[in-house]
Amino acid sequence: MSLGEFDLIAKYFTRPVRRAALGIGDDCALLAPAPGMQLAVTSDMLVEGRHFLSTVAPQRLGHKALAVNLSDLAACGAKPLGFTLALALPRADERFLEGFAHGMFALADAQGIELVGGDTTQGPLAICITAMGEVPAGGALLRSGARAGDDLWVSGTPGDARLALEVFRGTASLDAHAFDAVREAMEQPQPRLALGLALRGVATSAIDVSDGLLGDLGHILRRSGVGAVVEVDAVPRSAALAAQPLALQRECTLAGGDDYELLFTAPAALAEQVQAAGRAAQTRVTRIGRIEAGNALRLVGNDGRAVPNTFGSFDHFRS
Ligand code: ADP
Ligand code: MG
Repeated sequence: MSLGEFDLIAKYFTRPVRRAALGIGDDCALLAPAPGMQLAVTSDMLVEGRHFLSTVAPQRLGHKALAVNLSDLAACGAKPLGFTLALALPRADERFLEGFAHGMFALADAQGIELVGGDTTQGPLAICITAMGEVPAGGALLRSGARAGDDLWVSGTPGDARLALEVFRGTASLDAHAFDAVREAMEQPQPRLALGLALRGVATSAIDVSDGLLGDLGHILRRSGVGAVVEVDAVPRSAALAAQPLALQRECTLAGGDDYELLFTAPAALAEQVQAAGRAAQTRVTRIGRIEAGNALRLVGNDGRAVPNTFGSFDHFRS
């Protein structure tokens, strides 16, 4: 006998409420941000064939659907409170639901966030999560705060998700061990929530890298009305990526996408505080450039020579 809509919600998505004032089961959930805090709200949708391959394990999909939303909260320096899940499913496939719920709740539990509501309908597989968090009023990290003279930083080692994609496309090859590592980066990104919190009051601007480092940097530059110089080979690479040809390394780190690392700026005088935030969050942070006056994006290599920006279309910055 196939599972009905409400049985499905009860079996796979309803768990005891922990911190919400009211969870699943009524017309609305109720959340209570602490006094003096603002709500940070973000939605991200994943559609089969567009954002993920039909071959991805349901557990990894559950993780990723939540991770991409928590990454947005991280980029704002928000502490997660709860999330909703809107799900369109072709059928009530229990093998899928079990894996999906398992992956999603494992990440939710690890980050102390709970599912408070949602919607479930029959249709082509699509997943939309809305995550809510809290930040001290006026204290959110925004894209608009970068100032000339700030250092530019990135967390982790971007580029692996793109390298995994190139292996799937057959344009790069890796041994099995290296492939597992980059595939995990693509399918199981770790939202940098602890780092986002630790950067409150230190970073002047932040964004999470979902569409490629340079493209997302462009959002900071436009919103802040500044330019930047990026030391392209200062962007750290994983061992798997560092073993690839330099052109592919640069393409993956600078234009890769799906990294879910934090790209942020901080006054040069606070470099030690940035490093301390990285240590507190157990997350590698690397200085990769500097914010400049004007609106140009310049790239330089190890030798200090200009590197042409052939990484995607960044017309806004072409002179
Ligand atoms: P309504 O018709 O009032 O919008 P529904 O009948 O769609 O409510 O849902 C019943 C309850 O189950 C609501 O509290 C809703 O938030 C919750 N819910 C529905 N689908 C999901 C889901 N996929 N995950 C979590 N909660 C869900
Ligand atoms: Mg209702």
